[in-house]
Amino acid sequence: MRVALVSDIHANLPALDAVLTALGGVGLDALWNMGDTVGYGPEPDGVVTRLRAEGAICVMGNHDAAAVGLIDTTEFNPVAAEAAAWTARTLAAETKAYLSGLAKSRVEGNFSLAHGTLADPLWEYLTTVGAARNHFARQTTPTSFVGHTHLPLLIREGKDGHFASRTPDDGEVVELGEGRSCINPGSVGQPRDGDPRASYAVLDTAAGTVTFHRVVYDIATTQVRIRDAGLPEALASRLTRGR
Ligand code: ZN
Repeated sequence: MRVALVSDIHANLPALDAVLTALGGVGLDALWNMGDTVGYGPEPDGVVTRLRAEGAICVMGNHDAAAVGLIDTTEFNPVAAEAAAWTARTLAAETKAYLSGLAKSRVEGNFSLAHGTLADPLWEYLTTVGAARNHFARQTTPTSFVGHTHLPLLIREGKDGHFASRTPDDGEVVELGEGRSCINPGSVGQPRDGDPRASYAVLDTAAGTVTFHRVVYDIATTQVRIRDAGLPEALASRLTRGR
């Protein structure tokens, strides 16, 4: 089975379209999305409609929860809070109902999916040893997939509570191997590692591998749509920098 792994699309339809086009020849069996489908970007309804047409399996991110009123935005920075309020006003009723019904985590065969961590799916960033401990303590499958940080990452659980993490390169094929691991495919719609290209990955269950990818998308079109929507300028300009 080949599965596309995406996360943090953030209502950036040109970025999602570029990823889906790049995946066109892969022969996909499934599309798994680790959340923050909306928020920041100008096309929340368009992105959700496209994902549903693709039969995507999605979990809920903090921005999705904020957009449908399940959490308040006092923990958000002012730009994120303004974008969340815009998204909440803009969402079609059908999109809102879909996002409201998303699970915070899921298990698909030998794989677990969550936005932040399995311990705290909406809020926790998997960036510390403590967070990794909390996450792996709840991981019942060999491999898990997360998002939230907007950074591609591979974490392997070693012996005695140690973890090894590193950033895979574009095009790199990672063998899942024997031990437990956690993978973040990076962000489709708002990369933050200094590379503005959309980030995603492909799981091949027969080969036991995950391949990391970047793809160029039409950033200028997303920026025009952000400005036309009246969203904060910082959300447009940051896309060029990939920060
Ligand atoms: Zn996000």
